Amino acid sequence: MPTFRFKQSRPVISSQIDELNAFAQAKLDKLAAKDLKRGLVPTTRGVGCSVVRDGEAAISFCDNDYLGLSQNPRVVAAAGAAAIRHGAGAGASRLVSGDSPLNHELESMIAQIKGAEACRVFGSGYMANLGAVPCLVGGKDLIVMDELSHACMRAAAQLSGAEVRMFKHNDVADARAQLANGSEDGRILLMTETVFSMDGDLAPLQELQALCEEFGAWMMTDDAHGFGVIKQENPALIQMGTLSKAVGVYGGYVCGPAAFVELMISRARTLVFTTGLPPQVLGAAVEAVSIIRDDTQLAKDVMSKTTAFTNALGLPKPSSTIVPILLGEASVALDVQAKLLEDGFHVSAIRPPTVPEGSSRLRVAFSAAHELDDVLALAESLKKHLPKDVLEK
Ligand SMILES: *Cc1c(COP(=O)(O)O)cnc(C)c1O
Repeated sequence: MPTFRFKQSRPVISSQIDELNAFAQAKLDKLAAKDLKRGLVPTTRGVGCSVVRDGEAAISFCDNDYLGLSQNPRVVAAAGAAAIRHGAGAGASRLVSGDSPLNHELESMIAQIKGAEACRVFGSGYMANLGAVPCLVGGKDLIVMDELSHACMRAAAQLSGAEVRMFKHNDVADARAQLANGSEDGRILLMTETVFSMDGDLAPLQELQALCEEFGAWMMTDDAHGFGVIKQENPALIQMGTLSKAVGVYGGYVCGPAAFVELMISRARTLVFTTGLPPQVLGAAVEAVSIIRDDTQLAKDVMSKTTAFTNALGLPKPSSTIVPILLGEASVALDVQAKLLEDGFHVSAIRPPTVPEGSSRLRVAFSAAHELDDVLALAESLKKHLPKDVLEK
C-alpha cells in the first residue's frame, strides 16, 4: 500500500519508500553505533550569547559570532532597512539582474580592509572556495594542502580535478617535500587556513609563502576564523573568507589580483549559476564590516575574554578565539557536553569526520558579547566535569 504522495503527483510506490528508508536507516544505525549520528536541536539565539535549546536556557560557547555582530542592533537594523528598500530576495543571479549595488559596496570595503586589488562576494564561504579554486587550477595541475584544511577546501580541490597532496599540519618541511615532488608543467596551488577552525592555531604564512615563491606556486588562504578578529600579516596571493563568522551575517568573499577577481565573474560556477545574496544579508554585512573597519576594541575584547579562560584553566595562551579541549573518544566529548549543559553552558562536542578519528573534542569559542563572569563560570564547570587527566596534559 502506498504510504504517502507528494501533492499533485501519483502515489509513491510503497516498495520504493521502504527500500530508500532501509538504505538510509542502515547508515544511520552504523553511525549511531559509533556515537557519530548527528542531530538537529532547535536553538533560539538571543543577545549576549544566550540560547534556548529544546526549551533549556544556556549561554553558548560554540558560536562563530566572535564579535557579537549577529545581534548588534545596528547590523539588525541595516538588514531590515535593506529589505524594506530593496525587497526580500535578489531576484536572479548577479550576472542576470541580481547584482545589487550593495555587493559592490561590500566588495570595495573588504578589498580596502584586506589591502587587496579586488574582492568578489559569493553566496557563502563554502561557495567561495568551490567557485575560486577551479578558476585557478585544473586537470594537469597540483594542489598542496594542509591536512587539517576545511571540508569545503577539500571539496573545491576535488572539483578542480587537480592532483591533491596533503602536507602534515603546519609542517613547512613536509609542504616543501610535497612541492619538491613537483608537477611537471602544471600550475601549483598551496592552500591553508589562516586560523584553523577546530584547533585555533595559526598557519606559518610567511614560511609557506616563501616556499611558494621558491617553487612557483600560488598561495590561497581561508581566513574564515581570522577576518575581523586576528590581525596576522598575510602575504597570500588569494585570500578568501566568510561573512558568517566574525562578520555575523552570511556570505563569502575572495580577494586577489584584479584580473583574477574579474575572471571569476565569467568562470566561477558558484557565482554564475546561483542567485545573488538577498538585500537584507548584504545590507547587514555592509554595516557589520564597517563596524569591523572602525572598531578595533571589539577584537581586543574577545581576545581578552579568551585569555581569561585559558588562564583560569592553566592552558597555553590562545592564538585565536578558539580553544580546543581534546577528549579522544566521541562518547567522552558527548558526556562532558551534557554535563556542561546541566550547568547552563552550551559547548558543542566536535566529532569525526569534522575532526580526525580519536580526536573528538570540545571546541570552546569566545565572543565579545560574552560576560566575563560567564567565561569564568564555564572554566569552573569544566574543572568539575572534565576527566581527571585532561587539564594536566
Ligand atoms: C565555516 C568555514 C567555511 C565556510 O563558510 P560558510 O560561509 O559558513 O559557508 C569555510 N572555511 C572554513 C575554514 C570555515 O571554518
